Amino acid sequence: MSSTVIGIDLGTTNSVAAALIDGKPTVLESGGERLIPSVVGLSPGGELLTGTPAKHQYVVSPDRTIKSVKRQMGQEVLLPLGGRTCTPAEISALILRKVTAVARESLGRPVGQAVITVPAYFTDIQRQATLQAGEMAGLEVLRIINEPTAAALAYGLGQQSHEKVLVYDLGGGTFDVSIVEIENGVVEVLATAGNNHLGGDDFDERLVDHLGAQFRKQHGTDPREDAQALARLTAAAENAKIHLSSHPFARIREPFLLTAGDRPLNLDLEVSRIRFIDLIEDLLQSTIELTAKVLEDAALQARDLDRVLLVGGSTRIPAVREMVTDFLGHSPHGEINPDECVALGAAVQAGLATGAGVDMVLVDVNPYSLGVRSLGRSFGLVHNDLMSVIIPRNTAIPVSRSELYSTTSDNQKEVRIQVYQGESKIASKNILLGEFALDDLPPLPAGEPEIVVTFDYDIDGMVHVSAVERSSGREKEITIKGTGEKMPESTVSGPSAARRKAAVRKAKKLLQELGEHERRPLEGLLKSLELAEKQGNQQQADTLVEDLWELLYENRG
Ligand code: AMP
Repeated sequence: MSSTVIGIDLGTTNSVAAALIDGKPTVLESGGERLIPSVVGLSPGGELLTGTPAKHQYVVSPDRTIKSVKRQMGQEVLLPLGGRTCTPAEISALILRKVTAVARESLGRPVGQAVITVPAYFTDIQRQATLQAGEMAGLEVLRIINEPTAAALAYGLGQQSHEKVLVYDLGGGTFDVSIVEIENGVVEVLATAGNNHLGGDDFDERLVDHLGAQFRKQHGTDPREDAQALARLTAAAENAKIHLSSHPFARIREPFLLTAGDRPLNLDLEVSRIRFIDLIEDLLQSTIELTAKVLEDAALQARDLDRVLLVGGSTRIPAVREMVTDFLGHSPHGEINPDECVALGAAVQAGLATGAGVDMVLVDVNPYSLGVRSLGRSFGLVHNDLMSVIIPRNTAIPVSRSELYSTTSDNQKEVRIQVYQGESKIASKNILLGEFALDDLPPLPAGEPEIVVTFDYDIDGMVHVSAVERSSGREKEITIKGTGEKMPESTVSGPSAARRKAAVRKAKKLLQELGEHERRPLEGLLKSLELAEKQGNQQQADTLVEDLWELLYENRG
């Protein structure tokens, strides 16, 4: 049987394997697990544990378990494991063995060769250690490639275009931001920055401290001082954090977290997204400072970038996307599963290295932003016709997202939920898809009712919209069908041949007026649009036309 070449994202927290299946980059899984924890342990009985069982063991016996070994790659240290000691490369080899076993089970074929990714800042020694780990795991390592390069390959960039791409990668334990320049498949890393100890684990820890302090206030005893309770609290905090990425509130319940004498002490608390973001605000801000630094090191301005990619599980936090968008003025791409993007790119590289035909990574996305009309501030003025986006365009579907709203006058009896689709910041310039009233609201001062609006977008383009007032439980809902096709051709946000033509004409005219420096993003977009059309990628072309309009709008005046 012929052996297969796979791509491996050997991560600090998790590792992922991918391969080309019928030319399509695909994540490999076995037993439903796609993310393989990068953890190795030795059980009390002397059995070697890798992946999930080792991660579970860490909770009870951290002394017999090793995690985050990637941080020590290339260092001359010996790590104790049970009674033995191992080098970081040996531990990584055990993780790679596990990843290869998953790939073999998934493909039903032996796996002989691999492309492995490493952070862009890895030194030669660290790369060498990674290569060695691959060989110890019985793999022929075809290439070691940089993680931001793999991300760009997953997005199909650089095969024929010339682009400068910023890759913002916020994972479980590390943050990396890099700028790469790609032309004709050749990738150069222009600059890279990051923090080796910043990521989702720190967000969990902040939430644990918040919950632990509240529990202590209620019960007079601190769950953080008990190893078992702390482990449960940490797992619960991570779940709550993930829930808060798509909901405004999370409920955390851990029955019997501790006992006082024979009396069980239960944890039952609620955290709002706003509170959670407050808790991690400084950490998020530090990623923006590093992003500023990487631009400075590359001697570039944000507007010189052709594209921004979001990679790493923690970029699913909506505040992360908002901060990046605000700082760079680009709406970033994150539609390829951010946990899997690097592995998929490694599989693309594996295909290129072996001369196999490579297809695009396929993702179903919602083509237009969906939201509700709301009151808010714009340019310092209160405005009652703002588009409050709940599901931004280019979000992978199916998806469910909720946001929190309230009333504007005292004792307000009802709120109208008006559902809009489109990219204008002014709601009424978009398409009204449907509306309904949530009435019989309890009499409360303005701003006090908590009204949670939820959009469920399914794979067929149906959107189910519901609104709930939390104190009374009062709820109303509607279902909107076929959102994808609803945009008439003449509207601001609908893609159409005429709209495309107008954008290209305007862009070409503007190019003549701009200095050499300001021309680049516009030229980049026009080139990408041409390419997308040549490749017959209509969805990509539509997105690029909208990006073009956005850029024209920014340059108006
Ligand atoms: P990675 O290292 O890229 O696999 O990222 C793992 C980190 O992403 C962990 O800290 C996860 O808790 C975090 N994560 C995964 N999904 C989400 C989500 N929906 N919202 C917030 N964090 C997430």
